[in-house]
Amino acid sequence: MINDNAVYKIKDSVDLFLSNEKYILAYFMNTRQRKSFKVNEETVHLLECIDGTKSLAEIKEVMRKKYDVLPLYVTNIIKAMVKERIITEINKNNNILLEDEIQRYSRQINYFAEFLDSEEKGIAAQRKLMDSTVIIFGIGAVGGDIAIELAMAGIGKIILYDFDQVEVSDACRHMYFKEKYINKNKTSVLKEELQRINKNIKVEVLQESMKPDTNIEDIIKSVDFAVNTMDEPYIGYTASKISRVCIKYNIAHYIAGGFDAHLASTGELIIPYITPCVECYAKHFKKTLKDWNPKKHPVRTRYKEIGGLASMSLFSTSYACIEIIKYMAGLIPMEKSFKIRGEFLFTDMSLTYLDVEKNIDCPICGGGLKYES
Ligand SMILES: [Zn+2]
Repeated sequence: MINDNAVYKIKDSVDLFLSNEKYILAYFMNTRQRKSFKVNEETVHLLECIDGTKSLAEIKEVMRKKYDVLPLYVTNIIKAMVKERIITEINKNNNILLEDEIQRYSRQINYFAEFLDSEEKGIAAQRKLMDSTVIIFGIGAVGGDIAIELAMAGIGKIILYDFDQVEVSDACRHMYFKEKYINKNKTSVLKEELQRINKNIKVEVLQESMKPDTNIEDIIKSVDFAVNTMDEPYIGYTASKISRVCIKYNIAHYIAGGFDAHLASTGELIIPYITPCVECYAKHFKKTLKDWNPKKHPVRTRYKEIGGLASMSLFSTSYACIEIIKYMAGLIPMEKSFKIRGEFLFTDMSLTYLDVEKNIDCPICGGGLKYES
């Protein structure tokens, strides 16, 4: 809707170039997208008028007096440029966020706005994050760092589920590591760190391990999104247990780490009934690895020797958080553009995606068994 009191501005993330006085090239800095438009002299003058201070009525007045341009023409060009996401209405008195919240998240809101129609929708996307609760099972190198990135993004409530203590060897893997935290519960020290980053978010701690009889249904039912990186007793077990409950209650989740080879993995976003679920992945691996016959490893303490590198963990962390934030803030229709798990190689920096399909006969997410709450 266009109204005469509205004040418009060219989006902060858009640069405009005029070529030969006939074409305007709009360059979108965040998406690297370019759009070019054939323009006349009046449109160039109109663009100069959209300075973020004048109302539409004032712009119409200037255009009529100085350049003899009809108000209807101005309205139509403004509408077209809003549609092309080049300009946005400045949001004056919104009730979506408080002024200090807008300031805190201003960079992020500007970033979000590039994918949405208006600055107001960017603010609404931020609000969605702030109204959300995320549980993170396993807060080691990947899970702990995901908590940090989500706290920075302003997720309203984060629940940390882990039973482990900080060890000295976490020094080169966990971003929240401090020497004074050694032997302390990961959940309580990470809670402290998160609240230092963002005092406005709530952090709840569940100092627990996951056993076959552990009931996770009640806690998962209460969240908007779940992340699993829990590798005890092993990732296949925790992922299957968590994914089954999430699918039952239609909650999107991310399996982000905890694999033996997780330093190379992007993990996977699971949107119930849309993307492949954990069981669909398991079926894929059962098929593709059917000729593999793993030999039992003779070294019993091998678990302690599995390598780690903070930069690689952060790669997996950031990849997962980009997907989680995109999905939760509603920036991209993920239902149409989700990614299957990828493998990133340290040696040649390649990123290769697996070829896994949703199994329509899957006992967990297959068509006929959709859970209705
Ligand atoms: Zn499935």
